[in-house]
Amino acid sequence: MKEKSIEILKTLTETPGVSGFEKTFRKVMENYLADLSSEIKTDRLGSLVAIKEGSTLHPKIMLASHMDEVGFMVTQITDKGFIKFQSLGGWWDQVLLGQRVEILTSRGRVTGVIGAKSPHILTREELQQPVKIKSMFIDVGSTSREETEKMGISPGDPVIPYSPFTVCGNSKTVMAKALDDRAGCSLVVETFQQIKSYDHSNTVYGVMTVQEEVGLRGATTSVEVVKPDLAIVVDVTVATDTPGIGDNDVATKTYLGKGPVIGLYDASMIPHIPFRDFVLKTATENNIPYQVEVMSRGGTDAGKIHIFRQGVPSIVIGIPVRYIHSHVGLAHLDDYHGALELILNLIKTINEDTLKQLQTQL
Ligand SMILES: [Zn+2]
Repeated sequence: MKEKSIEILKTLTETPGVSGFEKTFRKVMENYLADLSSEIKTDRLGSLVAIKEGSTLHPKIMLASHMDEVGFMVTQITDKGFIKFQSLGGWWDQVLLGQRVEILTSRGRVTGVIGAKSPHILTREELQQPVKIKSMFIDVGSTSREETEKMGISPGDPVIPYSPFTVCGNSKTVMAKALDDRAGCSLVVETFQQIKSYDHSNTVYGVMTVQEEVGLRGATTSVEVVKPDLAIVVDVTVATDTPGIGDNDVATKTYLGKGPVIGLYDASMIPHIPFRDFVLKTATENNIPYQVEVMSRGGTDAGKIHIFRQGVPSIVIGIPVRYIHSHVGLAHLDDYHGALELILNLIKTINEDTLKQLQTQL
């Protein structure tokens, strides 16, 4: 089970797909899901919807994760051949300097580095201050605009972090780019692989949304395709177990290896309380260790899905990941497998009666 998960996670995190440029990644997901679904479709922005019918159509469970990773887009090439860029999704300036990136041009990948001044030439003032993204540039080793253009680079090209997938020394933690939210996409794949042989009294819609990182856009459009009765959003969350994060710095602490994180609150959603309690009870009854979280800032696709039409009871199941929105995130396989087990148990249990009960308990 571990080896299989590692293989899928490696493939999915290393496949490029920044916000708005998810096509290559979507094809990979389609390959995984084609034989496991009765139907696969896309919405008009490119979100992927894979349907696995159970014994009844309802409840329709939307199992959503987002396909896009944070990255950049080429904006201009300077006279000297350097590349200016726009960030896609949230980046902190300090994690960028000196990092390798890959520009996906119409003629293939070009490797570059986000250039940083050498310490020898920094002024005393510059040494004290972080560099702003807007003054950064990508260096592809060229000395003129013409040379850069000859590489096939042009404005509008997507740029991804360069970061090979690595299994850590404990064999349980992995480091990779794009775990946000390829860990979620990987869980959708593994869920579909498992429920292929299940008897379940609902229909599962595996939805891989586009453009989450730039404003939950694919969730807004794909929910129209599904019209779900319930939603389980699988995304990563910030692990806050690293040095320098005190108990008072965050509302709740989350740790690598202590289980999946169930969202009690984020800036985009307060979950449907009976459904939240149903999920917590399912975890407890199946002896799945879990953590809970309150996130004062930030949100997930559930923020859009739960307010679709008359409302969709929704929950966020998170995988704690250290250093998200940087070149290297770290995730623990125990958390990943705990989330998988929880999702599978929910699909096994949820039927039309569950739905009715949740509504009367509201
Ligand atoms: Zn995410």
